[in-house]
Amino acid sequence: MIKANNPELTSWVNIPEKSEFPIQNLPFGIVQLEGKKPRVASAIGDQVIDLFRVWELGFLADLDIPRAALENQYLNDFIALGKKTTGAVRERLSDILNAKVDRWNSREMSEHFLHPMDQVQLLLPIKVGDYTDFYSSIEHATNVGTLFRDPKNALMPNWRHLPVGYHGRASSIIVSGTPIVRPKGQSKPADATVPQFGPTRLMDFELEIGFVVGKETALGESVDISNAEEFIFGLGLFNDWSARDIQGWEYVPLGPFLGKNFASTLSPWIVTLEALEPFRVAGPKQDPEVLPYLQYEGAKNYDLHLEVAIRPEDGEDFTVCRSNFKYMYWNMCQQLAHHSVNGCNIKVGDLYASGTISGPTPDSYGSMLEISWRGTRPVKMPDGSERKFIKDGDTVTLRGYGESNGIRIGFGDAVGKILPAHQNPQA
Ligand code: MN
Repeated sequence: MIKANNPELTSWVNIPEKSEFPIQNLPFGIVQLEGKKPRVASAIGDQVIDLFRVWELGFLADLDIPRAALENQYLNDFIALGKKTTGAVRERLSDILNAKVDRWNSREMSEHFLHPMDQVQLLLPIKVGDYTDFYSSIEHATNVGTLFRDPKNALMPNWRHLPVGYHGRASSIIVSGTPIVRPKGQSKPADATVPQFGPTRLMDFELEIGFVVGKETALGESVDISNAEEFIFGLGLFNDWSARDIQGWEYVPLGPFLGKNFASTLSPWIVTLEALEPFRVAGPKQDPEVLPYLQYEGAKNYDLHLEVAIRPEDGEDFTVCRSNFKYMYWNMCQQLAHHSVNGCNIKVGDLYASGTISGPTPDSYGSMLEISWRGTRPVKMPDGSERKFIKDGDTVTLRGYGESNGIRIGFGDAVGKILPAHQNPQA
């Protein structure tokens, strides 16, 4: 077992009950402290740990970490040091924060590196180089195929043979809390003869998890599925905002474009693959058998509870979906092996998202498209209003965590509020 994951560990830092950041998590992010340059941080309880300050105080002196890797606007340079180093930092933090270890004098020094999380700004943790979105939930793909095509042939012929995906847009990936202006675009309602232009009428979320690559390959090389995990640094919650009417009109034949690329929300914390080790579970049996380069051994799925809440303007959170990452048909190792099998090089800071994570029951569907069954089954909100899709002023929150031995490991919320479309008529 990884030492820092030991469920027996306790910290001298007060950890509120049900916190997603016990001493066993220690995720990585970027924090903006007042008057300081952005820096790498971790989290424990409701505090952030200023990792650059921890480095300055000498706690990491033997780990050979350059200053610029920690005093940085993004995690990329830190991640690029490799899992040996980032894992050692996590182990060291675990030691420094351990209630039963007192050789670090860290409790006395803590005012220098701990800050209340609600008093600091969390920045986008990764400078995302390339972003790919998969389509790896069989429940989601079946639902969408049923809604848009033919219920009898909901899955395309390739779906069970390869993890379907598309290259997305990195520039519009934003950190949790950033508001989203309702996008405009072309759409063609079924009863219209010509396309129209205007704000999307079918604004939607997609409940996803993204993984961040921490090790690169050279052009022409492929990631072998047996060591794909070496390339996965950690995971974050990801909302792939979608404008369904724009998407529906534009997507044939080359796939998602302006219906997707206006914004995607990433959680502020990237949880390491190591911290998620206790939640490994076997994936669903794949039938038919996949080609050899996609065959894997061991438990490659993760039992992570996921949920989505909608909060109307001046209202309260109402949970519209409860799903789980364990439902994924295609796992992250298969996605990475497939993505690179043609020699496409992968780079540190790449983001690979799962695709909408829907479960088997209607209350576990990961988008409003599915929850409202294309608007035919509106959701009744506590304030008496109805939702088929997302309205202006609504705030959508993704939450996710694993739980074992009473210990909860989570990502921090991925939150976004939809603002009305800009008023200028053509822009
Ligand atoms: Mn998606």
